[in-house]
Amino acid sequence: MTTYDVLIIGSGPGGYIAAVRCGQLGLKTAIIEKYPTLGGTCLNVGCIPSKAVLESTELYQKATHQFAEHGIAADNLRADLPRMMARKDQVVKKVCDGVVFLMKKNKVDVIHGVASFVNATTVQVQPTGEGGGEAQQLTAKNIIIATGSKPSTLPFITLDKERVITSTEALALRELPKHLIIVGGGVIGLELGSVYARLGSKVSVVEYTDAIIPTMDRTLGKELLRSLKKQGLEFYLSHKVTAVERAGDTVTLTAEGGPSAELKLEGDYCLVSVGRRPYTDGLNLAAAGVELDEKGRVKVNDDLQTTASGIWALGDVVRGAMLAHKASDEGVYVAEMIAGKHPEVNYLLIPGVVYTWPEVAGVGYTEEQLKEQGKAYKVGSFPYSASGRALAGADTEGLVKVLTDAQTDEILGVHMIGARIADIIAEAVGIMHFRGAAEDVGLMSHAHPTYAEAFKEACLNAAGIGALNM
Ligand code: FAD
Ligand code: NAD
Repeated sequence: MTTYDVLIIGSGPGGYIAAVRCGQLGLKTAIIEKYPTLGGTCLNVGCIPSKAVLESTELYQKATHQFAEHGIAADNLRADLPRMMARKDQVVKKVCDGVVFLMKKNKVDVIHGVASFVNATTVQVQPTGEGGGEAQQLTAKNIIIATGSKPSTLPFITLDKERVITSTEALALRELPKHLIIVGGGVIGLELGSVYARLGSKVSVVEYTDAIIPTMDRTLGKELLRSLKKQGLEFYLSHKVTAVERAGDTVTLTAEGGPSAELKLEGDYCLVSVGRRPYTDGLNLAAAGVELDEKGRVKVNDDLQTTASGIWALGDVVRGAMLAHKASDEGVYVAEMIAGKHPEVNYLLIPGVVYTWPEVAGVGYTEEQLKEQGKAYKVGSFPYSASGRALAGADTEGLVKVLTDAQTDEILGVHMIGARIADIIAEAVGIMHFRGAAEDVGLMSHAHPTYAEAFKEACLNAAGIGALNM
């Protein structure tokens, strides 16, 4: 039986990044993946394919709606969905092949099959490839559970994966929905709703709470709602879905709430995006003494150790944000813990980004959280409509909001919506990592004209110095 220093179950951004760091640290490592490709949800059916189709449809949207303003005539434009999907598949293949290369480079053994615990140091792997094959047992001093998550549904909704679908099927449709109904106005609903609305589908979003992206700073949801409505998406907030039924090619959603007591929507596809659940099916965790918490996540302490000695867990399968970079940060953390180092993950500074248009991003505390804590804070903001770069680019929707400690001026939260925000948020993370103050950002030179200047202006505003361009 082969014995490893580290055995990793799952090759998503949590598992494969842990494997890379283990390899770099000289640990004898193997990674087990039940699917034929490496990369997990993020690379195969999540972050990467969704951003590929978001990019393609954003270009189409610009060509159809913004080119004229720039003096560019583009007649007879046509979106070719099968070609967009084929390009997306090529991008996915490239990034997944990249993970295979990384495993080789870092001398990590890759084993394809379904892993389940025999005991706290032994894992059985049942091959899943063509013809199956004999199960093998592997032992290790350390085992990392990085098995990720799967889409959740509601008890009364049957996901037939043809008409009543999850993000996985929505990322592989071969025809344009005439009317796409979306249950859940969170990240997946809005990103994939944007994709199809841009291509011409009617898109209706039914959300249980009174806001979209309700866990982010409330200002962002309000601004995004306005922008997406302008793009033609339809919203039913504060609606409780009670049924989703399919008859032939028609899907009917029923919900309670709003002015009329009952809402009925008829469409040809329904995307259910009400969150994701931690995935531990078939792992036989009990045999290893690994416990779950009340939400079905693998229970871990602050060092990502499970209730069984030598077994670690990270990423979507444990508490915290279900984000690829959070999983990867935890992958590095666990690998370094195993190697006896002293790593750190600052959970407050894990940014959240929504890749709609305009883009949305936030890091640190929201204004709602600061109010709840009774913290004395200041707010600074700057609208994109006053940004020279945004005006030149004809992308003036958006704003930057900065929250600071009322006594010390330390930046406590940054929340942004607008063009290129997904990249600008990195500056906010950087300054907050070093516990910088709004005035510090005001002293830093920002190239002109850039969208990033809006962050500096919002900081000057928060520091009470006064924005320079407003
Ligand atoms: P996963 O990526 O889920 O990987 C787990 C792996 O474990 C899978 O490959 C699975 O097959 C394997 N596995 C499970 N059980 C076993 C077993 N018993 N044996 C062997 N292998 C097993 N996050 C972002 O930060 N940015 C984004 O833009 C973004 N976009 C997204 C878009 C969509 C449509 C979706 C669905 C998610 C998106 N996410 C995004 C979230 C991101 O994909 C996840 O947070 C991330 O993939 C979690 O990584 P992980 O390593 O914990 O798990
Ligand atoms: P989510 O948690 O972002 O949104 C789910 C939404 O559904 C919420 O607004 C919630 O109020 C609503 N909802 C819940 N129950 C409902 C009901 N019965 N009726 C109507 N609405 C209901 O979840 P998601 O959009 O499914 O995404 C899952 C995970 O994937 C998220 O945790 C997210 O972090 C990750 N993800 C991230 C990105 C990104 O980083 N850009 C993109 C896609 C997915």
